[in-house]
Amino acid sequence: MNELRDAANIDSATSIAAVREAFEREFERFARLAERGEALSLREIEEAGRELGELKARYTGRKSPLAALKKQIGRVAAEERAAFGQRVQRLEAELSERLEAAERALRDAGARKRIELERLDVTLPGRRPRRGHLHPITLLRQRMEDIFVAMGYAVEDGPEIETDFYNFDALNIPSAHPARSAQDTFYTTDGLALRTQTSPVQIHAMQRRRPPLRIIAPGKVFRRDTPDATHNPMFFQIEGLLVDRHATMAHLKGTIAEFVRRMFGPHTRTRFRPSYFPFTEPSAEVDYSCFVCDGRGCRVCKGAGWIELGGSGMVHPNVLRAVEIDPEEFSGFAFGLGIDRMCALMYGLDDIRLLYENDVRFLEQFA
Ligand SMILES: [Zn+2]
Repeated sequence: MNELRDAANIDSATSIAAVREAFEREFERFARLAERGEALSLREIEEAGRELGELKARYTGRKSPLAALKKQIGRVAAEERAAFGQRVQRLEAELSERLEAAERALRDAGARKRIELERLDVTLPGRRPRRGHLHPITLLRQRMEDIFVAMGYAVEDGPEIETDFYNFDALNIPSAHPARSAQDTFYTTDGLALRTQTSPVQIHAMQRRRPPLRIIAPGKVFRRDTPDATHNPMFFQIEGLLVDRHATMAHLKGTIAEFVRRMFGPHTRTRFRPSYFPFTEPSAEVDYSCFVCDGRGCRVCKGAGWIELGGSGMVHPNVLRAVEIDPEEFSGFAFGLGIDRMCALMYGLDDIRLLYENDVRFLEQFA
């Protein structure tokens, strides 16, 4: 009987030591983590806390070795029972104390970490939003608009996708005209095309406003050009139109001459060369004296002394008829100027494509 009791005692003592040893082995990692505390990331701290909870359940829960030892107390020989019970209690106290200490350390480290992460340091310099500025083409367009608005012109807008009627027919461009070629024009479905010029806005404006009227229409136009240093499939024009009683070629010349003087300086001269456009008659190409050399010839004007401004002319009677304006009563003039090339010349760009690449390093120069 005694022998049996002894065996049970020895067994119980071994069990207590074995449980403690196993706990020490597993707990060591958490003791270290708890010590390192704030050196850990919040995620590591939370992960450790979760795993520590699992360890606690395994060693002190209902199905734990500690619970088994407690049940064993009643089976130990009466004279050994008190001593064994005390040892089990000591083990229990020791385990829960160490577990609690580690839990507390991790909880505190987590709380400090959270505060640190959420703290707003008002002394740190803010991240400034990068300040943008207008594109050089926009800047130039606005300057041109200002000049015409000061001369009594209204700024008109029009669609970039046009019907045959507005882009061609109403502008006296019959269906066999080469300007309609698929080589020159971006057609979409249903006979619509990206406008090849800002001139269709003339038609919209005349339909809407009725004469007398003075408008300019800046905007994007599209041609099937292969991009190179002086061409791009999308570029900017400004269209001008005046319709009134007794408007003459002299008014056209005076208006353009005034525009270039305000744009490039009071000494700027203009030159009109006869030309052909379907929607004007007579038609003329306009040049202005070079703003760099004043006509003597330089690199900018390629030695010519003159720079091309654009096309112009008296509105063709057929165009007036297309919008039911009587050409016997009203006459008008129109002109179209390219903004991009003027921009490239004024800023000394040797490649017009720089204007469309949206490279901030390039565009920043125009702030
Ligand atoms: Zn020049």
